[in-house]
Amino acid sequence: MDTYLMNERPSYTAYRERFLAAVQRHQGRVSHYEHPLKGRDGETLYTDVAEIGNPDATKWLIIISGTHGVEGYYGSMCQTLYLQGLDLHSLDADTGLLFIHLINPWGTSWLRRVNEDNVDLNRNFIDFTRPLQHNDEYDNIASVFNREAIEPEQRRINEQLWHDRAAEIGETSLRSQITAGQHQDPEGIFYAGQFATWSNQTLRTIFANLPKSCKQAICMDLHTGAGDFGHPMLMAITDHDYPGLEAAKKLFGPWLYTVHTAMGNTSDTGVSASVDGYTSQMLINAMHDKDFMQLVIECGTYSPSMLEHSLRFEHLHYLEGNDPGGHQEPGHSLKSALLEHFFPHDQQWREIAWVRTRQIFDQALVYLRDGQTHY
Ligand SMILES: [Zn+2]
Repeated sequence: MDTYLMNERPSYTAYRERFLAAVQRHQGRVSHYEHPLKGRDGETLYTDVAEIGNPDATKWLIIISGTHGVEGYYGSMCQTLYLQGLDLHSLDADTGLLFIHLINPWGTSWLRRVNEDNVDLNRNFIDFTRPLQHNDEYDNIASVFNREAIEPEQRRINEQLWHDRAAEIGETSLRSQITAGQHQDPEGIFYAGQFATWSNQTLRTIFANLPKSCKQAICMDLHTGAGDFGHPMLMAITDHDYPGLEAAKKLFGPWLYTVHTAMGNTSDTGVSASVDGYTSQMLINAMHDKDFMQLVIECGTYSPSMLEHSLRFEHLHYLEGNDPGGHQEPGHSLKSALLEHFFPHDQQWREIAWVRTRQIFDQALVYLRDGQTHY
């Protein structure tokens, strides 16, 4: 195991270099999608797409990291460790690996969950030709999370809005409705955006350019931050039943948590069931003419309240605009807390997250090869 990935403080550049080196070991073919903005340390940012194995394979295992930027350190770690441990000769001749490394590279580099537009990419995959939905509940508590809460005294006053509303409709319901996403406050949280972002367009381009030979694919989107500490969850998130979901239920049995999304739906997984615009949904729709299975791995970390969440404090600091990269205090500590929330600096957490993720990758490859599981 690469102890560097397990132990060092992560950076975009270091993780990218490790990933590209691991790809090169297998003579992988890499495409680089350059991001228009620079990283936190002035570096040029890319989403890298690596293909490994037979270029004409009909079956592909597709792994996406970094949809939520800062969660990309976990995803990158697993992509790199998997390639480092891969025996290319054991890969079925008709199966290829396609690893999409850091689809939101700006967020990964700047240690933000969102992208350069303050957009939660996992709420952004909607049809922008239709009228955008208004999140009425969000209006009630918007000032708890936007620049009106930057000043600590005002912040505490605004928090009462949250407590009042939680007392009325219940904390779980309020949280669910807020995390569902909103289009009305560009400086708020869980902002879904008003256009298809760079990462959205790039992911669509990558999928439009999948190998022509691809007939079947299993895709996994790697996340952290929801669920219990040290408990990776394998999930299927979809607004409708489709053949790949049935196949996933058979393949993974009780390991699979299925979240059916629709307005007002709730879920006890920690992942919102009311979201419109999930990456998973876009991919299921885009791949409807293929034998396709879309999965999410979500590794649980800490479970703070929304008001005490590092996400909120880092967000308010970022809005303040004095030190958006968090190079000085207090920004540095706030960035560190955010990173700790989404990529705990705990050897056992990282090992469990990695081992479980590797098992799922292995299981998917066996299924692609044999059409069944006997893992
Ligand atoms: Zn996530």
